[in-house]
Amino acid sequence: MKWNIHYDVCAIIIELLLLRLFLYKKNSPSKVNRVYLGFLCTAIASTVLDIVTVSMISHVESVPHFLCYAALVLYFLMAHVAVFLYTVYICSIIERVSPVTQWKKRFVMILAAVDLILVLTNPLTKGIFYFDTSGQYCNGPLKFVVNGMIMLALLISLSAVIHHHDAFSVMQRNIVYFFMLTNIVAIVIQTVFPRLLITQFSMMLAVLLIYMTLQNAEDFVDSQTQLWNRTAFIDTLNDKITRKSPFEVIVVKLHEFRNINDMVGVRAGTKLLCQAADALKAIEQDCEIYRVSGIKFALIVPCEKRKAVLEEVRECFATPFEIGEVELKLQIITCVVGYPQNVLSQHEMENAIQYCIANAEKNGDFDTVYADPGTLKKMRRTLDLDKLLKRAIREKQFDVYYQPIRNAVTGEYHSAEALIRLYDDTYGFISPDEFIPRAEENGMILAIGELVFVEVCRMIHDNDIRQYGIEYIEINLSAAQCVQKNLWDMFETVMQKYQIPSEMINLELTETATVQSSEQLAEFMRQMNSKGIQFSLDDFGSGFATVHYLFSYPFHIVKLDKEIVWAAAKQQKASVTLRHTIEMIKDLKLHIIAEGVETQEQADMLAEMGCDQFQGYLYAKPMPEQQFVQFLAEAGCVG
Ligand code: C2E
Ligand code: CA
Ligand code: CA
Repeated sequence: MKWNIHYDVCAIIIELLLLRLFLYKKNSPSKVNRVYLGFLCTAIASTVLDIVTVSMISHVESVPHFLCYAALVLYFLMAHVAVFLYTVYICSIIERVSPVTQWKKRFVMILAAVDLILVLTNPLTKGIFYFDTSGQYCNGPLKFVVNGMIMLALLISLSAVIHHHDAFSVMQRNIVYFFMLTNIVAIVIQTVFPRLLITQFSMMLAVLLIYMTLQNAEDFVDSQTQLWNRTAFIDTLNDKITRKSPFEVIVVKLHEFRNINDMVGVRAGTKLLCQAADALKAIEQDCEIYRVSGIKFALIVPCEKRKAVLEEVRECFATPFEIGEVELKLQIITCVVGYPQNVLSQHEMENAIQYCIANAEKNGDFDTVYADPGTLKKMRRTLDLDKLLKRAIREKQFDVYYQPIRNAVTGEYHSAEALIRLYDDTYGFISPDEFIPRAEENGMILAIGELVFVEVCRMIHDNDIRQYGIEYIEINLSAAQCVQKNLWDMFETVMQKYQIPSEMINLELTETATVQSSEQLAEFMRQMNSKGIQFSLDDFGSGFATVHYLFSYPFHIVKLDKEIVWAAAKQQKASVTLRHTIEMIKDLKLHIIAEGVETQEQADMLAEMGCDQFQGYLYAKPMPEQQFVQFLAEAGCVG
């Protein structure tokens, strides 16, 4: 039977075509792309060598023996390297999303090394193939061993795909499964019909299908700006980090671009964005530019070029951009994160960028922010805090403390504020001033708010605090909770479970909550009011433009901020302000609670000014449930 090389010829034509297409397109300098190129080239080389070697074997009598051996060794080398590159390729794709376990990578490397040694030493060992005395090509005893190793490498890539399935789309996963199947079938067919050269064809199918799905160059280029996109950025980061090659990332974020869109319209805004991208492209220094999100660009630069590139970036945005009749200057936030001096992995790099940019924006910092050790320490604490909060929510680790509120005239306690507490074995007590703002940022405040609400209702139910004269408990509510869907349903279910009348709940809102979507908030407050829940305006006097909240929203109580209370005890002008503030609030027929009352002097001053109720360390610190109940019992006895 003759060797059938038709499949090989077909494979070569398609592979060469793919090589042409690949080189023609804009490919980011990433590991994934380099490995794909290597895979494609070795596939081509092995297919060519397959044809060359079979023609040599067919005319073995007229070709020198050593040439036949050399060509065949080269063929096996290329074919096997191609398969191992395929495995490396799959791992590189996965590493865009999550790291692949070290042992898998090492195992594949050992397999590859052993396999290649076996191939290279074949002329001596004749383990994989040899020519018998009649010059016939024969499989050696190790042929099955190397085939087994190839299969093992493929199985490892298959298991990696199954394990990290989120790194692939359904289509991409199916391609990988399909390739595994065709490969196994091809190896079986070729073993049964050794002269039907079909394995190279199945390799070509892999190269082709990967090109059509995973290697789609458009997936790596941003269609608006023609810059490389986020996926390409992640690939390059991973690549450089794997090679331990130092670099720095300069991130440029267009500040408050939404305002520009509002001002000139989305179309002009998009043009402006493209102009900004073009300006960055014109940077002469050696750097790679990516659009990593809508209005955020990242430049990967060699460490020694950072200063020069930063200067050019600043120059790009120093002069206004022109769109039609309009001239607009773009403000930018920039940050620099370096590998390996600041971060050691792609995930750390992304976290550091996000943290630095968010911080700079929050502080309105337009100087370049560097991910220095201090900043990174804060970032790690924030990330730890996220994990800690997640666990605390899952395991209900929060405590709720209660701080009694005292009636200025009678000395009785008719209410108390519920204040959350968090204790961690590593960090000790974490202040709500630290974790509540973070929980508000990452959305966990909704779950935390619910836990607090449930806990307060349970406490009221278990201790029947009404017997001590407590009429209601103040619960702090964050802005996000005011717009939380079904908040009332949750309240109602919990209150019913513990048989708590809604009049026993008073919600405290700060001005930041009242700033957000005023109509929606007013509606929310009216709805709660109609169900019997009342509101306190918290921290009054600590912010700006506070007065109109008093008449714009249905508050029942105003809580004077600690700072204004403390200032009034020290300064004449602050004292005058406080006196008039109290008068105004009373004229509006609202109740007043003064917070942060620490000294008798402050208490006397506030009482003289006509303040209703006091909350502060002078009377009681926030305390755990049992202590609170005991406090009430004793206060009741004294009263
Ligand atoms: P806030 O609502 O203004 O709570 C009053 C804060 O002042 C409490 O701090 C309380 O312990 C403290 N305080 C009370 N009397 C005195 C005093 O005489 N002197 C001094 N120096 N401080 C006094 P805390 O418990 O650390 O809470 C801090 C903030 O965390 C609260 O400020 C509130 O904004 C937030 N928070 C606490 N619990 C919750 C909660 O369950 N939900 C939400 N959304 N926020 C909460
Ligand atoms: Ca409060
Ligand atoms: Ca307060």
